Amino acid sequence: MAEGAVGGRLWLYSNYHCNLVCTYCLTESGPKVARRELDPTTMLDLAREAKGLGFTGVGVTGGEPFLVPEMPELLVELSRVLPVLVLTNGTLFQRALLERMGPLADADVTVQISLDHPDPEANDHMRGPENFRKVVEAVPQLRQRGIRVRIATTVEEEDADDLERLCALHRGLGVSDDDHVVRPIIKRGRAETGDMGVLARYLDLEPELTITADGAFWSPFAPTVRQGLLDTDLLLTRTVRPLQRPLDAMRAVAGARPEGADSTLNIR
Ligand code: SF4
Repeated sequence: MAEGAVGGRLWLYSNYHCNLVCTYCLTESGPKVARRELDPTTMLDLAREAKGLGFTGVGVTGGEPFLVPEMPELLVELSRVLPVLVLTNGTLFQRALLERMGPLADADVTVQISLDHPDPEANDHMRGPENFRKVVEAVPQLRQRGIRVRIATTVEEEDADDLERLCALHRGLGVSDDDHVVRPIIKRGRAETGDMGVLARYLDLEPELTITADGAFWSPFAPTVRQGLLDTDLLLTRTVRPLQRPLDAMRAVAGARPEGADSTLNIR
């Protein structure tokens, strides 16, 4: 990261709870975990600070962001500051929520939905019952409303045939190849407990400043939870505001990286 210049996305962990309990979840999210919410006002203030510091986008993740009651309206507000990417499991888009999603069509918001496998059984084995069905129903519903949708696929091992069938599926749902990302399971959180995925040290992860209720972290893959405890190996600062403070800490760590030590996993 060049001294004086900031680019890229500021990540905000809106919350840690989730309606699903995926087998590889980095944050051990589920319905009963501590919520660890960032309140909407703080998120908006952080986005404004980020814009002033040169960030070019905001990412919202969790947990499941759409469990936060104000989320659709908050995303529109955030997009008035910076372009927004929100990550979701795609299972909560029933009629009432879909109606509130309408204004996102005119906002610079992209909704990134997880879909891991072209076969419902294999997909739902990792993510829970009915996940596949809910996602393939939600994607066209969102797109019909004019909302930009990306698909994110997280895999233990890439299988060319599965991937080809998954790509045929997302194209059929109207999502282009440019809006499909594939990334490995990261061996943190529940994936580490289950001995899944690839190791990710700080050298493997792009520096992308990430704010949670517990502090600022090196990457959105950093504020993970294992055995109910927050991992702090990639914690930058407990203080998150002013944003300049964790940003300076991240620059100091990035500046101390060995020459040529570019991140190797290339996951975003
Ligand atoms: S991986 Fe995502 S959808 Fe699955 S439990 Fe974790 S936060 Fe929820």
